[in-house]
Amino acid sequence: MSKVKLYDTTLRDGAQGEGISYSVMDKISIAKELDLLGVHYIEGGWPGSNPKDMEFYLKMAKLHLKTSQLVAFGSTRKVNTKAAQDPNLKALLKSKAKIATIFGKTWDLHIEDVLKTSLEENLDMIRDSVSFLVSNGLTVFYDAEHFFDAYKANQDYSLKCLLAAEEAGAGAVILCDTNGGSITSQISKVIREIRPKIKVWLGIHCHNDADLAVANSLAAVEAGVEMVHGTINGYGERCGNANLIPIIANLKLKLGVDCISDEKLKELTKVSHFISEVSNMKQRADQPYSGSSAFAHKGGVHINAVMKNPKTYEHIEPSLVGNRRRILVSELAGKTGMLIRAKGLELDLSKDDPKTKKILKLVQKLEHEGYHFEAAEGSFELLMKKALKKYKKFFELQGFKVVVEKQSDKKITSEAIVKIKVKGAREHTAAEGDGPVNALDNALRKALKDFYPTLSKMHLSDFKVRVLDEKVGTAAKVRVLIQSQDETDTWSTIGVHENIIEASWQALVDSIEYKLLKDKVS
Ligand SMILES: [Zn+2]
Repeated sequence: MSKVKLYDTTLRDGAQGEGISYSVMDKISIAKELDLLGVHYIEGGWPGSNPKDMEFYLKMAKLHLKTSQLVAFGSTRKVNTKAAQDPNLKALLKSKAKIATIFGKTWDLHIEDVLKTSLEENLDMIRDSVSFLVSNGLTVFYDAEHFFDAYKANQDYSLKCLLAAEEAGAGAVILCDTNGGSITSQISKVIREIRPKIKVWLGIHCHNDADLAVANSLAAVEAGVEMVHGTINGYGERCGNANLIPIIANLKLKLGVDCISDEKLKELTKVSHFISEVSNMKQRADQPYSGSSAFAHKGGVHINAVMKNPKTYEHIEPSLVGNRRRILVSELAGKTGMLIRAKGLELDLSKDDPKTKKILKLVQKLEHEGYHFEAAEGSFELLMKKALKKYKKFFELQGFKVVVEKQSDKKITSEAIVKIKVKGAREHTAAEGDGPVNALDNALRKALKDFYPTLSKMHLSDFKVRVLDEKVGTAAKVRVLIQSQDETDTWSTIGVHENIIEASWQALVDSIEYKLLKDKVS
């Protein structure tokens, strides 16, 4: 089972996920990332169906991919026409991709009710289309749409479709669970029956409608397929496609299938995050292997055991997939979690130290007020350093003002004015921004940039606001979480207040102070 090819369809099936829309530039940057990860095939889109996809292929033709091969997607020719005259097949040639995947029908129900043609004509469509592309020098993969439903309905005919593609020169036939409803044991059984009858590569393409796409893909590999289709983070229509992130990790670490190198496997978490950024989709914290919670420990008992031996509550070593172990600080974790964090920061804190008790009390008080340090490790580090007098003020606020203005139907504008004292000097700056918090951030950095040049290397990457439930009669508090990053790290900071601007300011200041402490700026 050492030869399994990874086939990524994030740019085609993934792009059909709700909320996802890629520009040509997005697609190129994703393709480059997939190439770095080392997937064997990248399906870039359907050049015959939209001009954006054609533009992507023509641009990609000028780029040099190191490890991956680009694949263009299309369908078999239309009913009762000639393959050579089919605009969709001609577009595949025009795309300059050297490999084409075309999908076709295998399910008699679809052929009779949707295509409204004969079963024989459908076989001709498969043969003509595959051989047309092969005779034009392309390698062809055939996607057998709805294969598992087709096989259930009419075994003989569905197999004939696969053989028609193989005889016409297809290099691989891919069994698609298009409706995503198959159960793992069914997938294994069907593949074991089909495998001996097909000479070329067999592939698997699963959708996740029964939440089984990853399990089904792995079972397919165990039953003998050589190619696995999927998308990064499982993006795709309805409930998504098979998620390549856990598939790759499971193939490598659980089944011993060498689909990418150990070095590339360490890129897995980064690739998952990068593609969620470009897709404008929030990274799922609980995503296995690559999510930020995948190796996060919260319960006191768990933390205790993990510190003695990580195997007690971790199925793999997180660094194998480029992730890391996190110890969450909260009331639940109590003293142990705090001491571990302190140790990680080289802060001198022991169990019986009265300072330990003091910090713990402060954390509990603040969490009661609405702070949530589990989600704001940056602010927690600052809190500890402040309590242990390992902190110095980098600047002093003298005042800020934020103006948000809208005149009749004109665009809304935000401006902030900040007055601070820094290294003995008084700074008074003003800046505009996309919104009041962005304006405040810009004005503060403008005031600090000459004193602390390292700040130009960080930026805010996420901003979350949540209204906290309050008892009737009191003003509702707002919790602001800010995520910041530089070239090497990501950190989160928090602010809580009745006023959203004040809450944001607290989180902003923490974020900047965290960076300065981290860089050991004086
Ligand atoms: Zn699909």
